[in-house]
Amino acid sequence: MKIYDTLSQKIREFHPLDDNKVKMYVCGPTVYDYPHLGHARCYITWDVVSRYLRFKGYDVTYVRNITDVDDKIINRARENNLTPKELATTYYKEFQKAMEALNVAPPDIEPKATETIEDMIKIIKKLEEKGYAYASEGDVYFRVSKFKKYGRLGKQSIDDLQSGARVEASDKKENPLDFALWKAIKTENEISWDSPWGKGRPGWHIECSAMSEKYLGEQIDIHAGGQDLIFPHHENEKAQSEACFDKDFVNFWMHNGFVTTNNEKMSKSLGNFLTINDLLEKYDANTIRLFILTNHYRMPVEFADESLKAAKNGVKRLKNAFEDIKNTVGEEKIKEAEKLITPIIDEIVKTGQLPFHKIDTVQDIEEIIPASLMENCIKNLKYFITAMDEDFNTSKALSVLFDIASCAQKTRESKNPEASAFCLALLLKLASVLGFDLTKSESLNDELSSQLMELVISIRQKAREEKNWAMSDFIRDELGKLNIVLKDQKDKPTIWSIQD
Ligand SMILES: [Zn+2]
Ligand SMILES: [Zn+2]
Repeated sequence: MKIYDTLSQKIREFHPLDDNKVKMYVCGPTVYDYPHLGHARCYITWDVVSRYLRFKGYDVTYVRNITDVDDKIINRARENNLTPKELATTYYKEFQKAMEALNVAPPDIEPKATETIEDMIKIIKKLEEKGYAYASEGDVYFRVSKFKKYGRLGKQSIDDLQSGARVEASDKKENPLDFALWKAIKTENEISWDSPWGKGRPGWHIECSAMSEKYLGEQIDIHAGGQDLIFPHHENEKAQSEACFDKDFVNFWMHNGFVTTNNEKMSKSLGNFLTINDLLEKYDANTIRLFILTNHYRMPVEFADESLKAAKNGVKRLKNAFEDIKNTVGEEKIKEAEKLITPIIDEIVKTGQLPFHKIDTVQDIEEIIPASLMENCIKNLKYFITAMDEDFNTSKALSVLFDIASCAQKTRESKNPEASAFCLALLLKLASVLGFDLTKSESLNDELSSQLMELVISIRQKAREEKNWAMSDFIRDELGKLNIVLKDQKDKPTIWSIQD
């Protein structure tokens, strides 16, 4: 598979550094406010990347940190008469709640900056010993001029940066480009930790260098985050880690695009952002995800209600396939199909082809579904893999899901409706790789509605058995007024659907 790397600015063939283990670090949120649509985009993107890498058989360790000490947190806490810890805890919980609501799987490890201070101090000490850092009035700074590769990730020339930098007379830095690794306390009662340079707290960039090294080692496969982090955050992380460990820090730097509105970046500082809570009031998690994945992850996503409405219709098409087929063949048949098709998917993912003799379930399936349908499913599976292997082309992958859904619906209406369970099983599997849950009811009401509908249908069935046609027609007509359409089937339970 191929992945775009921000440092080399190339799409490169992806191979893990060590066997099939993938070490992946994503810069997590600074928890000082409600998470917004930009966060949703970022963490849904890396959720899909980690899910797909696992689908491909990689042994992924996914670390996503929490920045719980930072100027923004300290200032906001002061404004609200809270301790930084209280404020950070509140918004950390909000973040977790939002991620869960969006069906973003938790990372394997979620370190907090405040629990990794010792490791940060260790790295700063080593940088100081090696001449890459210097202490100045209780602060410690990174000596940018000593790190020759500085600026390569962010495509910045040191000369340009130098001439653009503001030089302040009382500056504690040797050079205006130097950045803080450790910040001395300014007042006695602010949040601080003891260090060889006195009481203080870490700079933001050193947090990620330390957490990444602590949980993943000195070199990692993927380091990811929003494009706004390329410079200076990732540039500085790279400088710190490479100066400290004398190794290339990251094999693939990956960055997701912004969310824009009226073609302007959506952000807290511009005051034009939408919180995830706001969004979830109007749209469900699948819709938000589909809206985001319609765009390539490196491209900007323009927020517009029309796009979300279109996404909602898309989700409906996928969910209808599940609901309709479930109503036609029953849940048991779908579960059975999932069991039969799983080894086939695994084999194609692993080898790209299907040695039919090797898989026991192939024969079982051939007895149930026509060969042409099987071929079509396998073709779609391969399209999906090809799309995702090309630097995670999710919009192409989504179009494959829609093709599978159409194929499933067509099969359901054919002479052999049971075969549709196989198309559906494939659809459910691939949708879950993109983080969709098509089987979940949107709300408790959906669950209750379908139970009530089963009850109504069984009452009508009783009436029919008693040849009480008046009652049976009454139920049908009254449901019709609610836009609920019943379809009686020969020798099978009646199915229902809601007409638009
Ligand atoms: Zn390869
Ligand atoms: Zn970071």
